[in-house]
Parts: sequence; structure tokens; C-alpha cells
Amino acid sequence: MTGAKPAGVRKPVFNEEQVVRYSRHIILPGIGAAGQRALMDAKVLCIGAGGLGSPAAMYLAAAGVGTLGLLDFDRVDLTNLQRQLLHDTGDVGRPKVDSAADRINALNPNVEVVKHDTTLTSDNAFDILGRYDVIVDGTDNFPVRYLVNDATQMLGKPLVYGSIYQFDGQASVFLPGPETPCYRCLFPQPPPPGAVPNCAEAGVFGVLPGIVGSIQAVEAIKLIVGIGEPLVGRLLLFDALAMEFTSVKLRWDPDCPVCGKHPTVTGLIDYDQFCGLPARTTVQQAQAEADTLKTTSEA
Ligand SMILES: [Zn+2]
Repeated sequence: MTGAKPAGVRKPVFNEEQVVRYSRHIILPGIGAAGQRALMDAKVLCIGAGGLGSPAAMYLAAAGVGTLGLLDFDRVDLTNLQRQLLHDTGDVGRPKVDSAADRINALNPNVEVVKHDTTLTSDNAFDILGRYDVIVDGTDNFPVRYLVNDATQMLGKPLVYGSIYQFDGQASVFLPGPETPCYRCLFPQPPPPGAVPNCAEAGVFGVLPGIVGSIQAVEAIKLIVGIGEPLVGRLLLFDALAMEFTSVKLRWDPDCPVCGKHPTVTGLIDYDQFCGLPARTTVQQAQAEADTLKTTSEA
């Protein structure tokens, strides 16, 4: 016999390797075979292959998410390695999407990695985000954060939000549609240029994105499998120094410019890049700080 299989013969859902690899999920009540299959069929986009994107993408890959998109225009810098575990010392200078794809495929060759070596703009956001089921935002800048929020609301895609600042982290899940809040319900407009420092300027505790990015992976998996209570309508706040998690209730704002009753933002907006100094500026700052310690100990 050649050609097509007789009708009624179903192909196994998992191959032998997958049954073994995912066995701890398959036997886990709440995930099971159906949940694992849903993960393998899922398409997730990680925006940013940096601090938050590292644990998020690695856990999603380990969990067997079938298609993992990675969007990052940047190249690996030595200053990244204090927290961005997707990249190795030998990757310095490489495009982050290449380095990240190598790491992910080494971890789990079943994952199809789609590299988007680009900046997200109003021109490509619908096209790129439209190809995925769940969007994980691990960006460190406001223009992209607003763009991603608006595009996911307009496309009807769930957005797993995370952000970090020094020793503090935040996470939430924004679902499209009325009655559930989005990022703009919380912060209707971006801060004025120069008002907010980014990671490079302010410094960041290296483990912090590991925790927040892992929370984003948890939420993405819950959405895909359909288990638990998603972090919707709540903003989770993490204070690493106090070692405290708190969550505040978020309300849908009927006057929200994008998801409110009478939206005023009806197309995508490219806000000006208003934060971000070159990484070398941080290094100069660090050198000056390091020199003070040297002077002190020699005194
Ligand atoms: Zn809103």
C-alpha cells in the first residue's frame, strides 16, 4: 500500500520523545495530554529577547510551545549578560534573535523559532502580532509598550505584560474587548520624553527580570491551556528588597482611549523614542562608581 493512510486511522498526537520530554506536564492534573497538545499547537510572540524575554522564552520553549516568535532588533552587549540568560559570553556582538534561537533550539528542538530581527512599528505591528495567539511583552521602552497594547486590543489578542525598574517588578494580563482593563486604562498616555529612565540609565537588579519573566511564562501557559485564574484586572507588584508580592485591582476605564466606549486611539501610533542612553554611558557611570571603591579601599 502506498499513499494516504486509510480513513479513521489517527496519527498519534505525541511521538515517543515528546511523551518522555513532556511527561511531567502530561501527568499533571490541569494540563494533561490535551493541555500539552494545546501548548504544542500554540504560537507565542516574545517581544524583546532581553531580561524578561529570556526566562519567558526559555520556559515557554521548555514547555513545548510549538511556535515561538522572538522580536528584537538589538545585538548582544556585555552589559546584557548580568541578567539576559538567553545569551552567552561568546554571543556578544551577535543579533539577539540569533543567539536566542540557538539557546532555545538547544533546549528544545521541537520548537519552531521565528526570528523577527526588527523594531516594532506601526507599519509592521499588525502583520507580526497577527500571526500569534498570545503576545508576551518584555520590552523596556514606552513607545513599543503602547504600540503592543494598542495593537493587541485592536487585533483581539491577549497580552501578557511585564516590566521592571531597579528592584521592582510588575505584571498583568490584558485581554481584548470591553469590561477588562488594558494598559491604557491604567496609563492613558505615555510619560513625557525624558521623564522616565530606562534600565540602562537606572540600573537593574539582575535576578528581577528572571522572576517577572517567569511570571509572564506562567500566565501565557495558563491562557493557552485554559487553567487557573489569569492575571486579568489585577496588577501584580513585586518588591525584591522587601520580598513582597502585592496585587492591586485594575478597573476597565470606559473613557480609555483605546478600549473605552468612545475610543480616540483608532490607529497605531509611533511615539518618539524618548528614553535610552547608549549602554556605554552606563559603563562610564559604572566605572566612576567602581573607582570610588578602589580609592576607598586604598585609603
Ligand atoms: Zn483600556
